[in-house]
Amino acid sequence: MIICKTKGEVKERLAGWRAEGLSVGAAPTMGALHEGHLSLIDVVKTKSDRAVATIFVNPLQFGPNEDLETYPRDLEKDLELLKARGCDLVFTPDRDALFAADFSTNISVGGLRENHCAVARPQFFDGVATIVAKLLLILRPDCAAFGEKDYQQLMVIKRMVRDLDMDVDIIGAPIVRESDGLAMSSRNLYLSDAERKAAPALIESISYAASQLEQGSGEWAPVKASAIKQIEEFGALKTEYVNLVDAETLELLDVADRPARILSAAWFGKTRLIDNVPVRVTKP
Ligand code: AMP
Repeated sequence: MIICKTKGEVKERLAGWRAEGLSVGAAPTMGALHEGHLSLIDVVKTKSDRAVATIFVNPLQFGPNEDLETYPRDLEKDLELLKARGCDLVFTPDRDALFAADFSTNISVGGLRENHCAVARPQFFDGVATIVAKLLLILRPDCAAFGEKDYQQLMVIKRMVRDLDMDVDIIGAPIVRESDGLAMSSRNLYLSDAERKAAPALIESISYAASQLEQGSGEWAPVKASAIKQIEEFGALKTEYVNLVDAETLELLDVADRPARILSAAWFGKTRLIDNVPVRVTKP
């Protein structure tokens, strides 16, 4: 497995592969890797000749009081996991290798960057879009995989790629879960034993809400109220939001009358967890 720390090195390696006619798939991550991240390597390996992972804790997407400094980092273990999974190259730049000292560009995907997670994290999606655009322009992969775990992020990236005519196929990968249903996340490491036990309440509540929408009238207000009650009764300190949205545009819905998604975020102690589920509505 090749490890590149600079833009120059990675561009040269990838140019070599392209000259040989090999296709490249990318899996951008912030490290502290788990099965969810590694599943993205599996996805790109089925679609391309060479799999590239990136590991970079992106400062642009953290707010002033968020966990940038304490975000879990274990590069050595990450590299072992990626090698064992058959990853061909890892791009792991440090901040100075990626950004000019006076870097000042921002990419903002209007219409998708304001709601849901962005209410509590207003800088987040601009930070994600900007770093992902940068990585896609450096790597120029044929495809790139992103997890449905971060559903709003996936939609922001798809829209950016469409709007800017970036020549890359964005693949959404299914959410990988622990055996009790909790979506895998690097931030699960922050949970105390009691919080870890309570955390599956989020997926259980929104899955139940989805089944109620699918089997009932599809009206969201009463289902939402009982989902929030359930999340908090079964262990979350506080529900940040539970929204029914159009699966594509993420516009808020009052009735599940088209392909939809329930997006959610809740606090377990000091840890904010997100999750989402599809709502499959069969039209009469
Ligand atoms: P992160 O390192 O948290 O920025 O995540 C990097 C990529 O891994 C993103 O595309 C995430 O959506 C994806 N990812 C994280 N957790 C999971 C999971 N449990 N299942 C699937 N994909 C995931």
